[in-house]
Amino acid sequence: MPTEEIIVRGVVQGVGFRPFVWRLAQRFGIDGEVSNRGDAVVIAASGEQAALEALVHALTAEAPPLAQVDSVSRELAAPFAGHGFAIAASAPGTVSVGVVADIATCPACLAEMRDPAARRHRYAFTNCTDCGPRFSIVEGLPYDRATTTMRGFAMCSDCRAEYDNPADRRFHAQPIACPACGPRLVLDGDDDPILAAAARLRHGRILAIKGIGGFHIACDATNEASVAELRARKCRPSKPLAVMVRDRAMLEALCEASEAEHAALGRPSAPIVLLRMREDAAIAPSVAPRQNRLGVMLPYTPLHHRLMEAMSRPLVMTSGNRSSEPQIFRDADAFSGLAGIVDDFLTHDRPIARRLDDSVVQVAAGRVQVMRRGRGLAPVPRDLPAGFANAPPVLALGGDLKSAVCLTLGGKALLSHHLGDLEEPATQDEFESAIADHAALFAHEPAAIAVDLHPGYRPSRFGAALAAERGLPMIAVQHHHAHIATAMAEHGWPLDAGKVIGIALDGLGLGEDGLIWGAEILLCDYRTSRRLAHIKPIPLAGGDAASREPWRVLLAHLDAALGPEALPADLFEGFPVATLRAMIARGINAPLASSAGRLFDAVAALLGLAPPQLGFEGEAAMALQAAAEAAPDGQPPYSFATEKAGDLLAIDPAPMWRAACADRMAGLAPALIARRFHEGVADVFAGLALSLAGQHGTRTVALSGGVFQNALLLEAVLRRLEGGGVDILVPEQVPANDGGLAFGQAAVAAARLLPG
Ligand code: ZN
Ligand code: ZN
Ligand code: FE
Repeated sequence: MPTEEIIVRGVVQGVGFRPFVWRLAQRFGIDGEVSNRGDAVVIAASGEQAALEALVHALTAEAPPLAQVDSVSRELAAPFAGHGFAIAASAPGTVSVGVVADIATCPACLAEMRDPAARRHRYAFTNCTDCGPRFSIVEGLPYDRATTTMRGFAMCSDCRAEYDNPADRRFHAQPIACPACGPRLVLDGDDDPILAAAARLRHGRILAIKGIGGFHIACDATNEASVAELRARKCRPSKPLAVMVRDRAMLEALCEASEAEHAALGRPSAPIVLLRMREDAAIAPSVAPRQNRLGVMLPYTPLHHRLMEAMSRPLVMTSGNRSSEPQIFRDADAFSGLAGIVDDFLTHDRPIARRLDDSVVQVAAGRVQVMRRGRGLAPVPRDLPAGFANAPPVLALGGDLKSAVCLTLGGKALLSHHLGDLEEPATQDEFESAIADHAALFAHEPAAIAVDLHPGYRPSRFGAALAAERGLPMIAVQHHHAHIATAMAEHGWPLDAGKVIGIALDGLGLGEDGLIWGAEILLCDYRTSRRLAHIKPIPLAGGDAASREPWRVLLAHLDAALGPEALPADLFEGFPVATLRAMIARGINAPLASSAGRLFDAVAALLGLAPPQLGFEGEAAMALQAAAEAAPDGQPPYSFATEKAGDLLAIDPAPMWRAACADRMAGLAPALIARRFHEGVADVFAGLALSLAGQHGTRTVALSGGVFQNALLLEAVLRRLEGGGVDILVPEQVPANDGGLAFGQAAVAAARLLPG
């Protein structure tokens, strides 16, 4: 009998791959052994030639749902002496073994839960090798029952038999459980907590519900009084709330969704997907006031499935926290922190090891774009591009907002889940514990620390202290260089492939000249970045306050573009214009910034689409996008002027402001003005990027920065670039906003540490 050594690479560990190989070996009559080695699965297979061919074919064709086979290599090996087929234990020291993302309930478990004859009928913690909690229950390595929060539940003999049987779909499923031995739901003593919860929700009550990565706050999304009450109690006036729907039919009553969007909803990661809301959506107005999009997810745990079946209505499922604090994931914190917000608690006794917010994605320009990486998407290591295989281990710390950290190890990068905004003290503690948590779980010892160029960011200060304490080099990476490197590294741009043109349209980031940047065209490789063009800076009077109060930015832009005499007086009634101008004239707390994000805010303010004080970051920009999306295609773009200043091009929005103000005076609908503005921004940036690509001898353009989460703008820029015949790199799996920053910082720092 021929014997082969077959090596399978990709996402093949912790996803039920070894028992899958065992089942194939039984089916094809193959002897041998399967084991994890390094980050691969290695099979010693002895059998008829035809059987070996069938095995190799099935490895890819029938791979488990969570596996991703990148390559299968085969080599003849010494004949196999034994009989039968064995699953070898994992060798210790294989860092990636078993730490995978949490997975939505699979169809087999769902069917079992619905089967009145099954042992797990209606059981809210049903899971198997293909589904269930993973990262949210892991406390240490190796990944084993004893190192998860399931260690307190002794398996019953039935579960033990399944767990030990390689032919069973629960073979070595660490969170295996059943009603006899597993976790239990609690709702102040009710015997069917789920039915009781559904009844209370239908009566308008607000519930805390313990999920996979934290507590949600839930209420009936069709009950306006409940939703308004939830907002008032949570101190969340306007930020849209996510909704859970039972199924496709319930979804279609609320939103329009393409097949790509349905597919995104149904992924094993079960993210929140941003969808276009129907005008006649049967939903309480307070769920997403003044929005044209709704964040929707499908049930992803057995508890959710049962609850949604019992409810038959969409549910608000927003993160369980007060205002902007991090989502609560411990029972004790929930009982104290959510006491004034919810009426009842639907909880359970399986502890959550770490907080994981729901992930958020959208489908834009035919691509799934991750906007927040959380539950279901972390921790998934990504291969770094060619040339990075020998990169030393780097710890990159990201930015102040949408914090996430990134580790590089062995040619891979591991971007953490969304940790939150570090302005919140509770998030700061979590940031530090996440660093320790990741170092321990992935056996990571950094050789260098990467941070943002802004020394005042909390991660930069933390990184400086850490580098000093451990005697490590610290590498500061310019904010927008890191954003562009994120797009390059995600799409496998090789280390030595040369330079790309990067369009960074972003909020704020410190530039190399000490000013604030945020609307730039850069010429980058991983090691270096040079600024070629930018929007002319304007003063942000009040510093951070300008980010919350778009009228401040509008005033600065209009003064710069039209001159103070031409200011449309009706726009600023009741605002302290003179004070602001005095601050700007004297340069008091009025740093210069070329931010695209603030430009969008200012245009929203011109059109009356921004409140005097934003209720949440992005509120004005989202309203502007929604308005523009309501306009018919074919709007003429507003023009921007470009001026050469040395080797830099300055993009002057003055002509755009003049045209927009004139259109506004003439009574043109805000939707049309908003659309002409979007088209104008796309025109000037895509046009310049194409001509600069030609001048600098590159044919690749990378797009990044938070403003590219505006799907309308992204599509408008892509259309123009595609017409210009360049290759385009757009962040998809790694967020284009600051949630992806650490990934780009890690790539830049690793490149600078490599010789070359
Ligand atoms: Zn399952
Ligand atoms: Zn059991
Ligand atoms: Fe940014």
